[in-house]
Amino acid sequence: MTAARSNFDVIVIGAGVVGVACALWAQMRGQSVALVDPAPVGSGASSGNACTLATYACMPVNDPSVFGNLPHYLFSSDSPLALSWVHALRHPMWMVKFLANCRPAKSRQIATELAALLAHADAGLNPLIAAAAAEDLIVANGQLTVWRSEKAARADRAGLAFRRGQGVLFEEISGAEAHAMEPALAFRPACGVYYPTARHIRDPLTLTQRFHKAFTDLGGHTVVEKVTRLTDEGAAVRVHLDQADLVAARVVLAAGAFSARIKGGGAEHLPLQTERGYHLLFKSLGHYATRPVGWVEGGFYTAPMAQGLRLAGTVELAAMDAPENQSRLDYIARKGAELWGDLPPPDATWMGRRPTLPDALPVIGHSPTSPRIIHAFGHQHLGLTLAGVTGRIVADLLEGRQPNLPLDSFSPARSFV
Ligand SMILES: Cc1cc2nc3c(=O)[nH]c(=O)nc-3n(C[C@H](O)[C@H](O)[C@H](O)COP(=O)(O)OP(=O)(O)OC[C@H]3O[C@@H](n4cnc5c(N)ncnc54)[C@H](O)[C@@H]3O)c2cc1C
Repeated sequence: MTAARSNFDVIVIGAGVVGVACALWAQMRGQSVALVDPAPVGSGASSGNACTLATYACMPVNDPSVFGNLPHYLFSSDSPLALSWVHALRHPMWMVKFLANCRPAKSRQIATELAALLAHADAGLNPLIAAAAAEDLIVANGQLTVWRSEKAARADRAGLAFRRGQGVLFEEISGAEAHAMEPALAFRPACGVYYPTARHIRDPLTLTQRFHKAFTDLGGHTVVEKVTRLTDEGAAVRVHLDQADLVAARVVLAAGAFSARIKGGGAEHLPLQTERGYHLLFKSLGHYATRPVGWVEGGFYTAPMAQGLRLAGTVELAAMDAPENQSRLDYIARKGAELWGDLPPPDATWMGRRPTLPDALPVIGHSPTSPRIIHAFGHQHLGLTLAGVTGRIVADLLEGRQPNLPLDSFSPARSFV
């Protein structure tokens, strides 16, 4: 067995936005924290997302409409959701659970639980933004969602009413009003919804890096190595690395979509998969949008950001290690041209892995196999938004404090259907 370093209270595995938020919250609360990741800080899913702090986005992908649209998802290259046959056949139970969570009552229950967590999102994130002096990266200019067709808008009406019932603030506006807010849109939408209190991030990678700098400035330690497995040794947990292992009284597993690959901490038993998403970046078109614009039928966001205009989103249920799928990038390019008019070739493209459980809820809580290991992963489409509140909850659990919201729905011991 390799020699071990054991001078930390807590080891956080994974330096995406969720892991860094956990590490920073814990370090701010006076714990001595080591953050372990073989890759550069924030370079996973946390770097290429759609930049939105989507506190309004409580409706999960698990929606009853999935049943009617399944053939489209399987056979059409013109769909915002793509499903690989091979992947579905390799993970039939995950697919069954995912579909079971699309039943109307289940879908609404998930939305209620997400809304309850999202209600704490800003309170969890704002202290980190202040600690990292990252206010310059935050834009408070609302978010606009548009529907191109009346038919699609009608189908979402009940969902909007549900959102309102959950306390989400928004204004229903006409297509002309939506167009006036974003005049560069190439078509006049049928209608829109404006979320006036929504914020977005100029550059999510830089935000995670700033959080990491604040963590380091407070004395946090970073280890650039891959965790191979965990062993609960009774009084402490051993984090196995290629070089010298690390040992600490508490470990937080926050390796995003890769969390279930790290064996020994209980995550290997959880139905964690990935929803892959894509983005295209157009450096010279940052002026096209004044705020994030979500196009419902297209299934992606347009975000004006530090590097230009980012078209990001769509869902691909496919293997973690499958190569990037050019047809998904082509889809966004095609739909992007419908939304904004002719587009030049993108300056950059990207694929990222959203960590997703079949019930679209994150896992935040003690591992069923060890009271010394805390799970913090599975934030699907909302990891940027929910990183702060997740970090705060984890810091509470590390201190043995009761978090200020119920955690049963997010427990790793739940049934996932
Ligand atoms: C196209 C797209 C658009 C999105 N838009 C939004 C949005 O607008 N708003 C929003 O809130 N969310 C959005 N998301 C979701 C959000 O990006 C993710 O939920 C979030 O980034 C997940 O963060 P994470 O820290 O859990 O994972 P990651 O950022 O993937 O980080 C995981 C880290 O774990 C590390 N790791 C893996 N294996 C090991 C190991 N063995 N040992 C040590 N470390 C390891 C990896 O190197 C990585 O750095 C979007 C996602 C996509 C793909």
